[in-house]
Amino acid sequence: MGAHLSTTIAQGRVFMQLIDGEAVDSLSGERIDVVCPSDGKAFASIPASGAADVDRAAKAARRAFDDGPWGRMPAVERGRLLAALGRLVERDAGELAALESRDTGKPVRQGKADVAAAIRYYEFYGGAGDKVHGDTIPFLEGYTALTLREPHGVVAGILPWNYPLQILGRVAGAALAMGNTLVVKPAEDASLTTIRMAELALEAGFPPGVFNVVTGYGAEAGAALSAHPLVDYVTFTGSPPTGTAIQQAAAINNRGVTMELGGKSPQIVFADADIEKALPVLVNAVIQNGGQTCSAGSRVLIERSVYDEVAEGLAGRFEKLIAGPHQADLDLGALINAKQKKRVAGMVEAAQAAGIPLLARGSVDADAPAGGYYFAPALFGHVPAEAQLAQEEIFGPVLSLFAFKDEDDAVRLANSTDYGLVAGVWTRDGARQHRVAKRVRAGQVFVNAYGAGGGVELPFGGFKRSGHGREKGLEALYAMSATKTIVFNHG
Ligand code: NAD
Repeated sequence: MGAHLSTTIAQGRVFMQLIDGEAVDSLSGERIDVVCPSDGKAFASIPASGAADVDRAAKAARRAFDDGPWGRMPAVERGRLLAALGRLVERDAGELAALESRDTGKPVRQGKADVAAAIRYYEFYGGAGDKVHGDTIPFLEGYTALTLREPHGVVAGILPWNYPLQILGRVAGAALAMGNTLVVKPAEDASLTTIRMAELALEAGFPPGVFNVVTGYGAEAGAALSAHPLVDYVTFTGSPPTGTAIQQAAAINNRGVTMELGGKSPQIVFADADIEKALPVLVNAVIQNGGQTCSAGSRVLIERSVYDEVAEGLAGRFEKLIAGPHQADLDLGALINAKQKKRVAGMVEAAQAAGIPLLARGSVDADAPAGGYYFAPALFGHVPAEAQLAQEEIFGPVLSLFAFKDEDDAVRLANSTDYGLVAGVWTRDGARQHRVAKRVRAGQVFVNAYGAGGGVELPFGGFKRSGHGREKGLEALYAMSATKTIVFNHG
């Protein structure tokens, strides 16, 4: 895949959504322009669907679950379809990576990494669905009691724009492995690869109605989907306020939800850490995907005695960072849209106005198109614990540094936000590694490493405002199913 493909891919294409195995437009015929963040220019379009389109998709998913071959298909066969889908993603890896990069502005190597992760999801869940067992339960004399894991039915997946291919992979992999049918609503800013995945699912042999995609705005298509009475379970990744709206909508029908709502993840660097090893990981954890990562390591807490050394090391690296067009494959790409750029810039300006020291700033490539949504990375030192920079998810390449006195102080600072998604702990002291990993309130803790969301195999999700429920790994298979207890009286 060359730069040429990633600038011309899907040029002028009028994308359709996939409902009941058919490529269809929105019933209203309204469409949304697809804008490339690297130059701010529209290059394709997607349907702008509303409640009537969602109703069509929910009914198709319901029929496929209740009446179609899918409901009777053994787990091993469902797994084979997922594995076949993974092979099609592998076949079309170049096209999918180029499409994802053009749609989101992420550097092409990140697009390729996202495709590789998506392949892993279909591979992992393709082999996992037939390994989820029920139980037999010791019960009364004359009875046998057992449990089955059953699919919820119709699962709605509402996706964000930061990692569409990966997040679709974890949602669809687990939901389909357990025998649910799907209606996916990708983000209006990044729907293209989700549409391509639904096309590939048909090619892989998934029956019509099992994997539906409805595109459109959140307030219209997303709101209608989360409140739809034929939907049995909703899984969402995105911002906390939208999470609240979706939970309220799902509550109308008393449906279950999984919420993955972002974070303000700390990395704790003790004086005995291997600082040279830590520095590139600390930088990458906040600039990956332009900082638009729910698990971005956006706070670095540093033991006082090494604060200056770590701050200088980070500043030297930040000054060299360059943001540029996705096809140039620099340190980071553009942010997703003008609104996001304005939001990030506003937070950085407010921090400067408040007198928080700006230690270093990266740059924007001189050849970057003027219409792109580029933002030069920023590093702030000695950020007050109560500042907006310290408390709010920025979703941009902005890193805040804090000094701590001792282990208790480090844990207190780490836990001092309303989020709890991921944490990093850097120390050579084995006992401290265990103590701190246990005391930090986060769904994933990395010791002398940072996974930004971790591997496909690792359960992932938050405490506190970061949400509830777990995705990824085998745990997601439990979230995507419910226990049924059966009791036999045989006298
Ligand atoms: P968002 O959370 O509003 O959008 C995510 C998804 O939810 C999209 O598909 C959107 O169409 C849908 N949606 C929006 N309103 C909805 C509603 N009322 N009902 C149902 N679905 C709805 O995110 P955004 O507005 O694109 O970004 C705002 C901020 O959210 C960002 O600045 C960032 O801080 C955060 N964010 C976090 C993540 C994450 O992974 N944690 C992802 C995206 C955005």
